[in-house]
Amino acid sequence: MVPLTNQLPPSLTALRFNNRFEQQLPADPITDNHRRQVEYACFSYVKPTPVKAPQLVSYSKEVADTLRLTIDDCESDLFTQVFAGNTLLNGMAPYAQCYGGHQFGHWAGQLGDGRAINLGEVADQAGMHHVLQLKGAGETPYSRTADGLAVLRSSVREFICSEAMHHLDVPTTRALSLVTTGEDVVRDMFYDGRPKPEPGAIVCRVAPSFLRFGSYEIFASRGDHETLKTLADYTIRNLFPHLLDKADSEIGAAHYIEWFNEVCQKTAEMVVHWMRVGFVHGVMNTDNMSILGLTIDYGPYGWLENYDPNWTPNTTDATNKRYRYGHQAQIAQWNLVQLANALYPLINDAEPLRQCINDFASSYATQLETMRAAKLGLKAFQADDATLISELHKVLQLIETDMTIFYRGLADLNTEAQYQTDDQLLAPIADAYYVEAQLTPENKAEICHWLRQYQKRIRQDGTSDADRRTAMNKVNPKYVFRNYLAQLATDKSEQGDFSLVNELLEVFRHPYDEQPDKSHFAVKRPDWARERAGCSMLSCSS
Ligand code: AMP
Ligand code: MG
Repeated sequence: MVPLTNQLPPSLTALRFNNRFEQQLPADPITDNHRRQVEYACFSYVKPTPVKAPQLVSYSKEVADTLRLTIDDCESDLFTQVFAGNTLLNGMAPYAQCYGGHQFGHWAGQLGDGRAINLGEVADQAGMHHVLQLKGAGETPYSRTADGLAVLRSSVREFICSEAMHHLDVPTTRALSLVTTGEDVVRDMFYDGRPKPEPGAIVCRVAPSFLRFGSYEIFASRGDHETLKTLADYTIRNLFPHLLDKADSEIGAAHYIEWFNEVCQKTAEMVVHWMRVGFVHGVMNTDNMSILGLTIDYGPYGWLENYDPNWTPNTTDATNKRYRYGHQAQIAQWNLVQLANALYPLINDAEPLRQCINDFASSYATQLETMRAAKLGLKAFQADDATLISELHKVLQLIETDMTIFYRGLADLNTEAQYQTDDQLLAPIADAYYVEAQLTPENKAEICHWLRQYQKRIRQDGTSDADRRTAMNKVNPKYVFRNYLAQLATDKSEQGDFSLVNELLEVFRHPYDEQPDKSHFAVKRPDWARERAGCSMLSCSS
């Protein structure tokens, strides 16, 4: 334990823990921290490994507020020590979860929290539970061949992005804090045999639960239906209690089906949001799919810059592009099928599960249409709009077009004027184009043709430009966590300057607002970032 210099902050030490996961589910009886296969248990007790010189980089005010922590709490030494894993608060009972997963389409067996340690669950006044989880806090029984640590660059990316996603209205796990450890972590960033030391860091992630599809798959794969049922019942009672008439109701097949159906629906909703904001998860393995439909495990994710449905940021997936932007719904569905297979022993009837999967597909398709109509400022999606939208997607791919800037600019298009020249029409979206030379007369004509179709459609709705602009700017963000911004924040942080992390965190609190003095963070990717690793391509090294 590291000695504390200032007085103990009252609300931090007053955090009340109610560790439902740890108390209600079977624990691994072995408490020694060595790597192993863990059977018939949902978790193993393991303490974070203390670090040498922790330093607070940033914290999220909103998450702190949810936990009823004050600014003084967050800026205290105790806070840094706790969220670096050096000090445990009363009531914490740290553990790592056991789970498995399908990685890139193949069953990978036991994975588990290899570098995540759950400290405990805080119950807030409204009865909501918040699991506090340190990522990068040292080895666990699930660390397999790796070191249990995380580097600053990936931690900056996870910390900022998960908070940005929340403010973009995308369901996500949250992040309370980011600390550096004062210790180096060796990583071969490009997998080219040139490992080098990088600064280590720890993010404290927060979510009602970190259960994943793989949490259920592991027990089904081992034929351990008893633990599978225990975990499924736990999940329904604690995380989906509205599916039960009474808290002590018996849980049976009908409940498992309703629960699975809800997981399908929440997953569909999450992917529609990803499509709306141009987010590509990058590693949609079943161990990275939250049972609550939250975006989880921010690794080599990326944001679409030029609109390209085939784009993936993950260099590990460069050949097959399994997890490319335009394929995320199909992959979500494939993952749901794996979850359905895992839950089948509890239900013994494939038909209702198949129905839920079908409903996922139809509900996703409907939500996607609604979302796309909203991005265009249409009052509602009409059958004919399918053509308008597919033509738009052709136009967006005709030449390199920044998706975020395009939609934001489109909101400024004048649909009320009687006649506009091509140049007048193009002016509001001019910033979206990456390569001036690609704006040939033919391409301009094609874009303008679409813009005129769009104007016609808006006039048919009878929406005023002012109202349309307001509506569009609520669903089309001005600020997204562009890949090169992550790189800039990391570069500075590695020099010990955390100002950009904090500035970006602040900007992303209001991603739909104009924030004119921050508009340099809304510009398209600069040329230097086009091919630079970390900006347009990322490996899984983190
Ligand atoms: P991911 O694809 O990043 O979600 O990770 C897949 C599995 O590898 C999970 O079980 C992680 O906990 C584990 N893992 C990833 N990085 C590390 C690390 N540095 N040390 C230990 N386990 C890790
Ligand atoms: Mg993971």
